[in-house]
Amino acid sequence: TRRLLGRLRDLPAETRDGTRITLMANVELAGELDAVHQGGAEGIGLLRTEFMFMNRPDLPGEDEQVAFLRTFIERMGGLPVTIRTLDVGGDKLAVSLGLDDSPNPALGLRAIRLSLSRLDLLRTQLAAILRAGIHGPVRILLPMVGSIEELVQVRQVHDQVVADLRARGVPLADPLPPLGIMIEVPGAALCADTLARACDFFAIGTNDLIQYTLAIDRSDPSVGHLYNPLHPAVLRLIQFTVLAAGRANIPVSVCGEMAGDPRLAGVLLGLGVMSLSMSANNIPRVKHTLRRLALADARERTATMMALNDPQAISAIADTLAERRR
Ligand code: PEP
Ligand code: MG
Repeated sequence: TRRLLGRLRDLPAETRDGTRITLMANVELAGELDAVHQGGAEGIGLLRTEFMFMNRPDLPGEDEQVAFLRTFIERMGGLPVTIRTLDVGGDKLAVSLGLDDSPNPALGLRAIRLSLSRLDLLRTQLAAILRAGIHGPVRILLPMVGSIEELVQVRQVHDQVVADLRARGVPLADPLPPLGIMIEVPGAALCADTLARACDFFAIGTNDLIQYTLAIDRSDPSVGHLYNPLHPAVLRLIQFTVLAAGRANIPVSVCGEMAGDPRLAGVLLGLGVMSLSMSANNIPRVKHTLRRLALADARERTATMMALNDPQAISAIADTLAERRR
């Protein structure tokens, strides 16, 4: 199988009936970039920037951040790199930010909320991303957006940062990088139609979307059996988000763990998702599965699935989407 997976790198990611699917990688460390190339990723769909802030007493400055980002952008050689602003808080704590015991960290001051309460942090990070953007195509991604107001506030800060950089004579990409949001809060998914008209792209984060939709802590093993990516509520929110993105004519991808599971990737395709971002190691397996699928068939089976309630019946359909025909 290793040889087979190796050969897959050079084959197009397309369904049996000829629809191209974009497969991208989720990364956090530059050390993962070899695997990204080996997997044949067509870009980075999620660059988590938390690592830079972890396990240190101080905060990374603008130049340090530019240097960190530049490595990824240059190594991707012209393929898009989607850079997410800081997503600490919740299960991801950073000493340097003095984030200690929040009564309920998953619902507390985290991600974009934290950035908006610490504008110095957000300004530095946006400036670094914008500066790095002259080295290749980048996209700016905001985590855990819950309402349009947050997006509007970030855009104001973004525009100020752009003006400041221009005043400093710093060269910027033209056009400026697209500004997109993660859809991972159920309230945001339900307002996807309005949000889609106010940003440039969506990245659906199923890890958090499932956690918040089903009220299941993604890190608590005692409720792990209830963490169900195929719960009808989750599928409906994804479908609504994809339809809203389509109507507003903005790109949408999925970058949660669901995208990297061959059994679930087929369901995402059936829901209309044509761009998947996953850990690089999963790309060959997902590509292999998608190449055996007919899109029309995936659509039909997913539609059947959407009308069901019984978890076992739903799960059985997902199995058929990934079944191995030899
Ligand atoms: C997600 O929530 O699905 C996601 C991709 O973000 P993270 O796992 O970093 O929270
Ligand atoms: Mg998330």
